[in-house]
Amino acid sequence: MDINFTKEDIAFRDEVRDWLNNGGYPKHVKEKTDKGITISKQDQIDFHKALAEKGWMGYNWPVEHGGTGWSATQLYIFNKEFGLAGCPPLLAFGVSMVAPVIWTFGNDEQKAKYLPDILNFNTWWCQGYSEPGSGSDLASLKTKAVLENDHYIVNGSKTWTTLAQHADWIFCLVRTDSSGIKQEGISFLLIDMNTPGIEVKPIITIDGEHEVNSVFFTDVKVPVKNLIGEEGKGWTYAKFLLAHERFGIASVGASMRQLNKLKKIVSELDNPELDKKICELEVSLSALEITELRLLSALENGGHPGAESSILKIKGTEMQQNISQLYVEAAGEYAIMYPGPHGYSSNDKPAGPDYAANSLSAFLNLRKTSIYGGSNEIQKNIISKFVLGV
Ligand SMILES: Cc1cc2nc3c(=O)[nH]c(=O)nc-3n(C[C@H](O)[C@H](O)[C@H](O)COP(=O)(O)OP(=O)(O)OC[C@H]3O[C@@H](n4cnc5c(N)ncnc54)[C@H](O)[C@@H]3O)c2cc1C
Repeated sequence: MDINFTKEDIAFRDEVRDWLNNGGYPKHVKEKTDKGITISKQDQIDFHKALAEKGWMGYNWPVEHGGTGWSATQLYIFNKEFGLAGCPPLLAFGVSMVAPVIWTFGNDEQKAKYLPDILNFNTWWCQGYSEPGSGSDLASLKTKAVLENDHYIVNGSKTWTTLAQHADWIFCLVRTDSSGIKQEGISFLLIDMNTPGIEVKPIITIDGEHEVNSVFFTDVKVPVKNLIGEEGKGWTYAKFLLAHERFGIASVGASMRQLNKLKKIVSELDNPELDKKICELEVSLSALEITELRLLSALENGGHPGAESSILKIKGTEMQQNISQLYVEAAGEYAIMYPGPHGYSSNDKPAGPDYAANSLSAFLNLRKTSIYGGSNEIQKNIISKFVLGV
């Protein structure tokens, strides 16, 4: 196992840093993310379009589909540097989730129609998997699609749909047959969000943000040509997609940035209890990074990511949550002075230190990380089955 970077890897890291620091990363987006202010739909578009212009939107795509063809190590470096620079997380729904399903299981017409728009961020995708009552037990989903001539008629609802309020398209798991076991009879449909009969309703989360939604389908007509692969084989495609969803979920770079900032803050507080907690987190973060590098080394030598990605998911998300908790502890009573998701207006001055202003909202928001992408309890089940063999 070799976990040291080569000369080429270091040159690549410098290229990424150069883009981030010298005008590639749009300034107006950086200003907001540095202050912890929620970025708008247009900011998201600007950020992703800048990436597309540089030719990096297909950062995890093979060259044959217009991607970078980067190695696992380059991908790791790219993710880490973006995290260290405080960039917003790259929206995964198009580029990392539905795109690999389309190029692996879609037909030529579907590849030509959808992939270039994803690569240029002309379309915003969302994920229609979870339903009320069908989250961890996803295969129990009930949203129904009935074939009538050359259309499916879709009825049902999806929930927790991230940023559906902005989306042009949704990829959906729907039930096309209820006669067999629940994993059978699920199909994978691409649905235009402008189709009549779709209604998006916001779910406001505990931090006051509008990030997730309910999506309702009433007699929505979906052309049969929007079916991916074979009818009834959607469960296979869904599992394939989830393996992609978990890649990069450890967010090592973003946690390093947060922890480095926190170290500076805590060094001025004269609070030995917090000092000790910071040291513990630093050790855990190093262990997490080494675990990720070990997995990378195995990948570069022809291995496949298995249940190890579940370990990274659990440890990475616990790290994010623990760091956010220390920000609240460092802010003390000032953490309560939460200004709302859009931050302070230019005339307001937050009470207490700057870092206190958004500490509580970040702490509350990050509770989601151990739930989405397959809850951490479900990841533990995977580890016990495939790593421990019990
Ligand atoms: C912020 C956020 C964004 C999301 N975005 C999307 C999205 O864009 N698209 C989408 O389709 N979904 C999305 N989800 C949904 C997410 O995938 C589900 O919330 C998740 O799979 C858990 O399902 P559930 O909420 O129904 O909880 P449940 O499955 O009901 O689980 C409740 C609790 O029981 C535990 N549990 C359940 N089964 C087991 C078991 N077998 N063993 C041990 N413990 C178990 C869980 O870990 C959890 O703690 C999002 C969720 C959140 C919080």
